[in-house]
Amino acid sequence: MAEPCHSTAFREGGLPPLRPINPEFEAQRAVDAIIVKLSARCNLACDYCYWFRDDSVLGASRLMASLTVEKLLFRLREHIVSHVLSDFTIVLHGGEPLLFPKARFFRLCERLRQLEAESGCTLHICLTTNGVLLDDDWAVILAYFRVSCTVSIDGPPELHDRHRPDLRGRETHPRVLEGIACLRAVGLEPGILAVADPFQDPAALLDYFVTELGVSELDVLIPDAVYGDAPPPIADFLIGLFDHWHDHLADSGLRVRFIDAVIRGLAGLRSGVESIGYGPVTAATITSDGGIEAHDVCRIAGGVASELGLATHPLDAIRDDPSWRRIFAASLELPDECLSCAWRHACGGGHIASRWSAERDFANPSVYCSDLKRFFFHVWHKIAPDLVYVAVEPTDA
Ligand code: SF4
Repeated sequence: MAEPCHSTAFREGGLPPLRPINPEFEAQRAVDAIIVKLSARCNLACDYCYWFRDDSVLGASRLMASLTVEKLLFRLREHIVSHVLSDFTIVLHGGEPLLFPKARFFRLCERLRQLEAESGCTLHICLTTNGVLLDDDWAVILAYFRVSCTVSIDGPPELHDRHRPDLRGRETHPRVLEGIACLRAVGLEPGILAVADPFQDPAALLDYFVTELGVSELDVLIPDAVYGDAPPPIADFLIGLFDHWHDHLADSGLRVRFIDAVIRGLAGLRSGVESIGYGPVTAATITSDGGIEAHDVCRIAGGVASELGLATHPLDAIRDDPSWRRIFAASLELPDECLSCAWRHACGGGHIASRWSAERDFANPSVYCSDLKRFFFHVWHKIAPDLVYVAVEPTDA
């Protein structure tokens, strides 16, 4: 079996060394992105949601209080000024972030853009929403403040509504489509996020997004799962997704972020996403109570409990948080099974949460490992003939 080409070791038939990443440098790098939980509640009851699998979120403030927003703005300014940052990303998240009142959301964005103007630091403000509450007013606010919007929609109505009903079990697909239309009416093209259902036809899924929704970019995520969840196999779905994209849609310009990331990884580059590929996990989360925590998805992977809060700690304090350090270290220290795997650069052990078990913490390959191996093998053999190998000899410079 030919292996991916990352280094001269490939030509010699051995496994390439892991991409050089300096853990000390990465651990000390200033935080450059935060996930902000404007709301700890949601108006939907998605059957795969990681958030409500941790009961403690029900004890958190339903909405981020005004005083907490003030503390957040103070800590952001302090952080940006002290590190002289030129870029910072703020992902507004939940629960469902559009449960946050419009007037307060408007003032928050106004203050963020003011901070941007005063500090000279470009703020990338992003929003991830289920789209149900999007209306004309929200669309105008988001467009006015240049907020990038990502809408979660799992595909055609019957598929979407099976997994993403509202709290009373009712369909939500029509309201999501209305929300997307509101965004497009003000010139905002949302990102599209779909969670894969391994029992569905991936070709029909992509065709729906392209033909019915006119989408040119989207992401398809592997469902969050840890050991003990016994998730259904997903290799056939991923292979079907890739083949349909590669054989029928790539030439039209359709981009699927997960596939992009896999190809980048197989070509020896950083994947650029957290869901797949070898690289450090450094995400920090601000809770609706003003807590500062590690990556929120790791709530299902041993937890992210933290003593830190905006009232008493700067954002960088996260780097000394035991949960953050545990997740960060695990992202760079792959288990033996991964270290001897041909796909370790492109895979990196899969999503960090998918490596967790109660018995071994993160010392496992992904719970989807056998599926990922089949998928990478398939993709590699399909794209390898198109890749041009350029050997760059190391220099002393
Ligand atoms: S999770 Fe599996 S496929 Fe991925 S790097 Fe580890 S051993 Fe390889």
